[in-house]
Amino acid sequence: MHLKKQVDLQFNVAQLLREPVGGRREYTFDEENLSLDNDVSLQKITGDVRFTRTPSGVLTEARVRGVVERLCTRCLDQVDQSIALHFCDEFHSKIEVNTGAPLPQPDEEDPFFINENHLVDVGQAIREYTLIELPMQALCRGDCKGLCPTCGVNLNDISCDCPSGEEDERLSILKSLLD
Ligand SMILES: [Zn+2]
Ligand SMILES: [Zn+2]
Repeated sequence: MHLKKQVDLQFNVAQLLREPVGGRREYTFDEENLSLDNDVSLQKITGDVRFTRTPSGVLTEARVRGVVERLCTRCLDQVDQSIALHFCDEFHSKIEVNTGAPLPQPDEEDPFFINENHLVDVGQAIREYTLIELPMQALCRGDCKGLCPTCGVNLNDISCDCPSGEEDERLSILKSLLD
């Protein structure tokens, strides 16, 4: 294992690209925070990654753990969701590393690319795989009772005396007056 050498989960593979197919590099990494989407971020990230030189770029195999902090969709309490990822993806070169000549477009849908500075953005792959792994709903627990729609208390903590029916009391008085 090499010491971690990365900026924002980007790894420079310029040297590896000059090696024959099968050449390898391994790194461990940690990162406090990776923004995912709409105020959601992956935090306390730790992982390791292995790059293997392929004819058109580098195969990137990574194991990653982290935590996503979200709000319970019913009661708005904070929920920590643990994420564990293991993925293996090829990052393709757009240019030949020695000559700078352009390389053909890979035959793949939405391929990952090594950027023009020979950086592999592992963070981009982590972001995409985390969003796939993330449960649609964030619930603090399966039977979360949520917030009272009338007075707003957290019904997991206390109960309230609000009428549980759909109709508000004043509304039913108004209705009876109209009748
Ligand atoms: Zn909840
Ligand atoms: Zn209430």
